[in-house]
Amino acid sequence: RPILSIEGLSKQFGDHTAVDDVSLDVRPGEVVAIIGPSGSGKSTLLRCINLLESPTTGRITVGGIPTEVDGKVSQRELVALRRKVGMVFQSFNLFPHLTVLRNISLPQERVLGRSRAEADARSMALLEQVGLASKASSHPPRCSGGQQQRVAIARALALDPSVMLFDEPTSALDPELGLEVLSVMRQLADEGMTMIVVTHEIHFASDVADRLIVMADGRIIEQGDPKTVIDDP
Ligand code: ADP
Ligand code: ADP
Repeated sequence: RPILSIEGLSKQFGDHTAVDDVSLDVRPGEVVAIIGPSGSGKSTLLRCINLLESPTTGRITVGGIPTEVDGKVSQRELVALRRKVGMVFQSFNLFPHLTVLRNISLPQERVLGRSRAEADARSMALLEQVGLASKASSHPPRCSGGQQQRVAIARALALDPSVMLFDEPTSALDPELGLEVLSVMRQLADEGMTMIVVTHEIHFASDVADRLIVMADGRIIEQGDPKTVIDDP
């Protein structure tokens, strides 16, 4: 049984079709990498999966709970789906005036109703996991880009998502800082996290992903074992 199922998803912007009838099933623990030229709809597809964009048509099922996205999605459906789908952006989107720890614990209090103590304990454990325990009381502007992105990953993980989406998570980073982030992502994949990663990092795609999807003009034009897809001329 797939943990994430997308059926007939389309997104129109005016008369432009950014995502064109995409269907995709993702197994628990599967790592899917998505590549394709700029403007091919990769980012819009991810944004539709957690309803940052409202899809024009389609159906998204996460953990067995379907969300019909034809027409209006209720606030309750939106909140339920967002909780299950963690997202990491190219820009880290951390609150600069909150400490690293607070950036991770606040959403747990607001969204999951955890106590401050529970949220802080979980946040510390996640900071250990991403190698940043020593930065807990720093503010994001005092952290490197690679550290900020690892905090953003910890923040998304703190809500216990079923699926993690990554939209070009390393493309704003210098290569060596990007490697820190890729290594955390690799570790997550090894631990069995279900992930969809839009990336230009072809090494990550071939070494870590179970499946590589190629998009063009809003559609999936090719998919399969990463090494086979990459070697295919
Ligand atoms: P990619 O992530 O593959 O670069 P995008 O999903 O960002 O592609 O964009 C797909 C297409 O949709 C592009 O033609 C882009 O200009 C268009 N698009 C994306 N977001 C919007 C928007 N908010 N309004 C209008 N057009 C958009
Ligand atoms: P990405 O490909 O990483 O999404 P973009 O620069 O294409 O980066 O998009 C950044 C933001 O601008 C997104 O919120 C997207 O929806 C919006 N956007 C992209 N293309 C257009 C467009 N043609 N018209 C309006 N908004 C757009």
